[in-house]
Amino acid sequence: MSDCLFCAIVAGDIPADIVRRTDHTVAFRDIDPQAPTHVLVVPIEHAPDLAATSADLTATGQLMADAVAVAEQEGLATEGGDRGYRLVLNTGIGAGQSVFHTHVHVLGGRQFAWPPG
Ligand code: AMP
Repeated sequence: MSDCLFCAIVAGDIPADIVRRTDHTVAFRDIDPQAPTHVLVVPIEHAPDLAATSADLTATGQLMADAVAVAEQEGLATEGGDRGYRLVLNTGIGAGQSVFHTHVHVLGGRQFAWPPG
């Protein structure tokens, strides 16, 4: 989709701090981080939101598995300590989605409140 910001990042047309790339997803640091670690994981294939991506169970599984892999790569894995991470998928304007290309926020490195504000 030519007017999609994250498609442009995936294509390399707009620069980003890319931390991981697979055949299915690209992960890059959020430009306005909300935690010490804040990475966005996006499917290479454009879909506007999780509701659309979820029609493809394989793509959905790859997206989630790659988000976990990014968290592990960033040293946020829960094993053996008090570390952890939060995965966020804002879906729809009312939920705070501002870029309409499916993405998982991988957040970590600080304590998170529950329930979220
Ligand atoms: P959301 O509000 O859930 O749609 O998340 C969109 C995220 O994209 C926000 O956290 C923005 O800070 C982030 N963002 C917007 N433009 C860029 C960019 N050029 N590079 C990296 N992250 C971006």
